[in-house]
Amino acid sequence: MPRYLYDDTTPRLASTARHSAYVKIAEGCDRPCGFCIIPKLRGPQRSRTPESVEREIMALAEGGAVEVNLVAQDLTTYGTDLDDPEASLARLLGRLARLDLGTLRWIRLHYAYPTATTDELLDAIAEGPRVAKYLDVPLQHIDDSVLKIMRRGHVGKSVHDLVRRVRARVPGVTLRTTFIVGHPGETDDAFARLMDFVEEVEFDRVGVFTYSKEEGTHSGSLDDLDVPTTVAERRRRDLMRLQRRISKKKMKAMVGHDLDVLVDGSSDESEYLHEGRHQGQAPEIDGKVFLSVGDGVRALRPGDLVRTRVDSFADYDLAATALEILQPAAKARGRARLPVIVG
Ligand code: SF4
Repeated sequence: MPRYLYDDTTPRLASTARHSAYVKIAEGCDRPCGFCIIPKLRGPQRSRTPESVEREIMALAEGGAVEVNLVAQDLTTYGTDLDDPEASLARLLGRLARLDLGTLRWIRLHYAYPTATTDELLDAIAEGPRVAKYLDVPLQHIDDSVLKIMRRGHVGKSVHDLVRRVRARVPGVTLRTTFIVGHPGETDDAFARLMDFVEEVEFDRVGVFTYSKEEGTHSGSLDDLDVPTTVAERRRRDLMRLQRRISKKKMKAMVGHDLDVLVDGSSDESEYLHEGRHQGQAPEIDGKVFLSVGDGVRALRPGDLVRTRVDSFADYDLAATALEILQPAAKARGRARLPVIVG
């Protein structure tokens, strides 16, 4: 069974720019999700100590990080395997809030488990001055029978309640989720309930995956409940089409608003544009903000934090004009500490 866990002293390679980094705070998972092979591959959960996480984040902040993405297979059970009975993700955020973290602005959380997303954690997100008002909660489905077959340990009603709690306790939150379609046992009615749920809730970001059979998992043994690949693929397209419409409506509503944007670099789309992200856009998985430079703003550099005004929109992306540099990118001070590679 895998037992390895890196810490802040582990040598590492840079896989991201210095202004945005990933920090893995725990490895492994103890949950029994029927479709998932990760607990077998990565072993039981092992959390890093809060002190180790703090040291790494402080070093990243000293190196110019503006954004740190905390990751784990299940971020919300962070600390439950440590000797300290009080350790939790909410308390870790509380400890980070007391540190001098210089240029660091957004501590972003991936991934929360629905049943472990406590009010204490939501309050820590809402109140943490450097915690991004962003939550990534893979929900996988809404239909009770599919959730039961998936062995997720909760029902659709608790998911509805969770969405209500997140939005009530974290004003302005960007809520991201993922769903699996075509899981064994997903009937036409179950998928229709998922479509209705997504239409009703209007998530900010949705990722949709077609079920992929993993040998050695519970779901992988349910051959008699299999959904044909063509049906699963059609469901994925239908759900993505619905979410594209919702996303476009949300993007349109942002036109004319001012947004703080972290510049990632020059754009692949045009030599005249830069691209970046606002607090509600995670690297690699969400949309972007394409930036043109307004009068009086010097050329933009990766790592600059800029005030922008949104000019136009597409399905998942925005276009904006940079109006003012709020926080210039940190000057290069060598690469003594580098952002981490995540598995
Ligand atoms: S889906 Fe996520 S929470 Fe469930 S077993 Fe896999 S890694 Fe753990």
